[in-house]
Amino acid sequence: MFASSSFSRFDTPPFFSACPAPPSAGERSSNTVVDLLVVGASFAGLACARAAALAGLRVMVLEKKSSAGAKLHTTGIIVKDAVDTVPWLAEVPPALVRRIDGVRLYSPDMRHVDLHAPGYWFWATDAPALLDWMVDSARASGVDVQLGTLFEQALWMNDRWEIPLTHGPCRGTCISARYIVGADGPHSRVAKALGLSRNTRFLYGIEHEYRGARMAPDFLHCFVDRQLAPGYIGWALDGVGVSQIGLARRMDTQAAPALRVDPLLRKIASVVSPGDAPPVAIRAGMIPCGGVLPVVARERALLVGDAAGMVSPVTAGGIHTALQHGERAGEAIARFVRGEVEDPASWFVRSYPRFRLKRALRWAFDHFQSDWMFNRLLGTPQMRRMAELVYFHRKASPLPRG
Ligand SMILES: Cc1cc2nc3c(=O)[nH]c(=O)nc-3n(C[C@H](O)[C@H](O)[C@H](O)COP(=O)(O)OP(=O)(O)OC[C@H]3O[C@@H](n4cnc5c(N)ncnc54)[C@H](O)[C@@H]3O)c2cc1C
Repeated sequence: MFASSSFSRFDTPPFFSACPAPPSAGERSSNTVVDLLVVGASFAGLACARAAALAGLRVMVLEKKSSAGAKLHTTGIIVKDAVDTVPWLAEVPPALVRRIDGVRLYSPDMRHVDLHAPGYWFWATDAPALLDWMVDSARASGVDVQLGTLFEQALWMNDRWEIPLTHGPCRGTCISARYIVGADGPHSRVAKALGLSRNTRFLYGIEHEYRGARMAPDFLHCFVDRQLAPGYIGWALDGVGVSQIGLARRMDTQAAPALRVDPLLRKIASVVSPGDAPPVAIRAGMIPCGGVLPVVARERALLVGDAAGMVSPVTAGGIHTALQHGERAGEAIARFVRGEVEDPASWFVRSYPRFRLKRALRWAFDHFQSDWMFNRLLGTPQMRRMAELVYFHRKASPLPRG
């Protein structure tokens, strides 16, 4: 959350150096002036940039990868709450998503319960194609998306952020921005450059994509097993054109733990078969799980999405919050630039989710996860209710009386 101390620190800004050294002969040298500079062309950054551009701001996005959909870490499941609350998702081409109606939850001894909630579903997505579509859509709304462009630092000068670009196609350019948003993921460079809080607690996840896998198609299959996935679960789903099978675990040190899909595949062979061919893609990545960070804003700057730790500590889902708060941040910044409201750094970030219950559940899961207990509780009304709350939120059915 916003801490007033970061505002007061801002009175004596730490950066005084000038924009980049003059480029050598043949290099581009120019200044680009924008209202808002967003770092990161993923769910949070693109939602923020598009909302601000639709509200009339000049917006630029910097993305270090050559395409937004390249080298993704995410499974890409989008919950119905996101589809209900983020109007942009209504425009997503149907070919990029597939509806999944229920969850099949397996205990460590491989018994299962099927969970549904009336009117609730998930989207499996072709996440790379979805993000590339989002870039096109943001550009069509007026956002200048610069791919292959690394953010390194921001300098506060003359009441603006100056962002020198020393790599990529814009090398030698200096971006001058009234506002900066860090939507650059779990290891945010913007947070580091601006002296904001940084994520320290993570899950680590790995996922294989297969063509020709076999499983019951209408479920997100979730596997609880303390040995294979301590602190989280394994999962399998028939996605868009591929099947996705993965698992994640708690990270007890800052080094990514050894995590392999093969032991999970052996364990779940009776219900999920990857087919005969090797995986067509492998993804892995860190998921912040400590909740929203203490200092996510300072004057004319804020973090959003994973950069702010905005991931459910229980489900490890972050796309919904990234899209929703990204979009709202863009709208709030547009109102600020138009002079209608105070700097959102002082009020908007207070609306970020606190995940109080989910942080308590994460603590309990970290300390008391027990395969024996899960085997015994699977199928009880209490366990079903708890699982439905985790997966379906408000749409979970009430606990039966008696
Ligand atoms: C294995 C795995 C599976 C997951 N599955 C799901 C799921 O099914 N559903 C769900 O809701 N959530 C899931 N999550 C979490 C979800 O992916 C994240 O919460 C979500 O992607 C956050 O979006 P974001 O826009 O905040 O950040 P990110 O998606 O991390 O994007 C950050 C962007 O910033 C760019 N960037 C970083 N540094 C720089 C820099 N210095 N300069 C320029 N650009 C930079 C990156 O290249 C990237 O494009 C999963 C995470 C993992 C690791």
